Amino acid sequence: MIKVMTPDEGLLLALLNTTPTVAGEVTDRLADPEEAYAWIEEHAGEGHLEEDLELLRSTRDTLQALVHGEAAPTALAPALDGVSYQAVIGDTGINWELATPRAHTLAARAVVAWDALQHTAPGRLRSCENTDECTLFLIDHSKSNSARWCSMAGCGNRMKARRHYERRKNAQTAD
Ligand SMILES: [Zn+2]
Repeated sequence: MIKVMTPDEGLLLALLNTTPTVAGEVTDRLADPEEAYAWIEEHAGEGHLEEDLELLRSTRDTLQALVHGEAAPTALAPALDGVSYQAVIGDTGINWELATPRAHTLAARAVVAWDALQHTAPGRLRSCENTDECTLFLIDHSKSNSARWCSMAGCGNRMKARRHYERRKNAQTAD
């Protein structure tokens, strides 16, 4: 069964996946400010135009390095500067809402989502196994924790086709 992603888990994954490999080259969807703001609008809605792009990019880089085991969580400190939880009293009780400086709302939300995953689903956030061609990440919510590809339709099929080809090639060599 696939659990519905919380909005910020989706944001985290989308942020991690802003450096896809296209035609053999690693690209960066946040490199060009115009494209970056289009990405922000698409994934977080309007109203985030004050987001500090440089901080968002460096937070993304740190999160990617963390997933690869190549960074320490202390490197996330800039994204959490001035971030706190605020009690908001509603009709049914108290809600705790993340309060962030306007300049790094998205960076902070992604970091908080990453931290939550560390506790609720350790090891479930990882990179696509098609490392030769793909720089995307996945969050595995399957019961068996056996997802290996960013998408079955993309890398899953490509890897299956390649294994099939290699098996045939090996079978022919053996003849
Ligand atoms: Zn992939």
